[in-house]
Amino acid sequence: MRVPKNRRKLHTKFIFITGGVLSSLGKGLAAASIGALLEARGLRITLQKLDPYINVDPGTMNPFQHGEVYVTEDGAETDLDLGHYERFTSARMSAVNNYTSGKIYYSVITKERKGVYLGGTVQIIPHVTDEIKEAILQLASSQIDVAIIEIGGTVGDIESLPFLEAIRQLGYELGKENALYIHLTYVPYIKTAGELKTKPTQHSVKELRAIGIQPDILLCRTDRFLPPEIKKKIALFCNVEEDAVITAKDVDCIYEIPLVFHKEGLDAKIMEYLNMWTREPDLSVWEKIVYTYKHPEDEVTIAIVGKYVHLKDSYKSLNEALVHGGLANKLRVNLKFVNSEELTEENVEEVLKDCDGVLVPGGFGTRGIEGKMIAIKYAREKKIPFLGICLGMQLSVIEFARNVLGWKDANSTEFDKNTSKPVIYLMKEWYDYRTGKVEKRDETSDLGGTMRLGAYPCKLLKGSKAWEAYQKEEIFERHRHRYEFNNAYREDIEKAGLKVVGTSPDGELVEIVELEDHPWFIGVQFHPEFKSKPTAPHPLFKAFIKASFKNKKEKES
Ligand code: GLN
Repeated sequence: MRVPKNRRKLHTKFIFITGGVLSSLGKGLAAASIGALLEARGLRITLQKLDPYINVDPGTMNPFQHGEVYVTEDGAETDLDLGHYERFTSARMSAVNNYTSGKIYYSVITKERKGVYLGGTVQIIPHVTDEIKEAILQLASSQIDVAIIEIGGTVGDIESLPFLEAIRQLGYELGKENALYIHLTYVPYIKTAGELKTKPTQHSVKELRAIGIQPDILLCRTDRFLPPEIKKKIALFCNVEEDAVITAKDVDCIYEIPLVFHKEGLDAKIMEYLNMWTREPDLSVWEKIVYTYKHPEDEVTIAIVGKYVHLKDSYKSLNEALVHGGLANKLRVNLKFVNSEELTEENVEEVLKDCDGVLVPGGFGTRGIEGKMIAIKYAREKKIPFLGICLGMQLSVIEFARNVLGWKDANSTEFDKNTSKPVIYLMKEWYDYRTGKVEKRDETSDLGGTMRLGAYPCKLLKGSKAWEAYQKEEIFERHRHRYEFNNAYREDIEKAGLKVVGTSPDGELVEIVELEDHPWFIGVQFHPEFKSKPTAPHPLFKAFIKASFKNKKEKES
């Protein structure tokens, strides 16, 4: 093959993952699973998501539309696929692992305004595509063997064209053995015909080739293993080798995907094409996880009381963290999504009586908060294990102030600026452990205002239930919020029985509250769900599930 003069010589090899036919085929999980397989072979990997939408980051997007906003250690607000990447691999994600069209264009336009392009006409090709290539190539280093780049959207979308053009160019510049294209498509089984249909795949590959990309490997999402003759047909029509047509079969447990891919020979094929030599993968951890998932000793039911309950993606990391908590206790976790807007004093008993634990997740805005507090009151009074996350923690403080201390007007200034008891408020000044500076929050701007984002240290009170769960005195957890516990009311609240058991190292920011006279009632200002992995279930979720199961057993006896 002709070697281009501008061939890039990098240690890192690249895998580009695109998707076709329709969205929601599980490209993020496929990318994450490939990462898991390569790590199991001893390779050092990283991942990146390129999102075609114009928002600079998903921070401003409604979780109803785009699912959860995933927060990384460094405080980047990113696409939820980065959560899959961190759960499936040991790669640590940060701001460089997620780019949107908005972020790319923003940078190009900023450069244009600064005169960086020296009077040239700024165009999609080469300026935008170069910016994309730079974003991708910054991942290359002697520490990374393979970088897996996932392109959001579906081939054929107008939005994703610059990204596809950029990876097309990179394929040429990096050379065959250093760049691999994997395309995820759909092979439906048509019941009435009793047949698997390959046409959508053929069309999708045709679309990809029209923009200059010939996929090397096809991942075919389907409900059954593809028989050899179907693989042969797809191979023939799409110009790929037969053993590069991989069945991406539907699974009950997402952690089974690496195992299915391996069985189909995917990782071996990737190694062949990238001309790499490694040991056979050790997949015993994944086998164990799947086995535990499929053979639980018992089950437990958790109510998630929130307002984004219609779209399961809105609480992706949370759902997974609960599953992990179940794995750690050999239990199946059934999730009951409860719409807080429909919860009332009258129906709460009926709705929650079959639940062993209650969880109130994070959120923004007034809608549904009264219902959440009804659920919290119920869990507090009936001694049902409770975990409140971020807004869930703040509401547990408000509920306590209102119903135990009798401060009927207690509120967060997020919901009522004129409350006489602002137990949750905007702290105007606070020492930021991330920047090492005193940070200020601006009361006037409510959207762009400074959020506390990313990992912050928290010291735990020895002997508390939180400490019991973590078995550590200092922890680091990820944040995404503006409002804080108001220390002016700390003494009164603690005296009445809601204890502060976790704070920032200087003791100023309240991070964890815990009810004294209750089997397990914890509210955390941070989002523990972002750090839970199937291979390392988060201590709080493990403890919460354990307490909920104990509650179930006690109810039964
Ligand atoms: N709305 C609350 C705040 O900004 C809680 C945010 C959250 O739950 N992530 O402080």
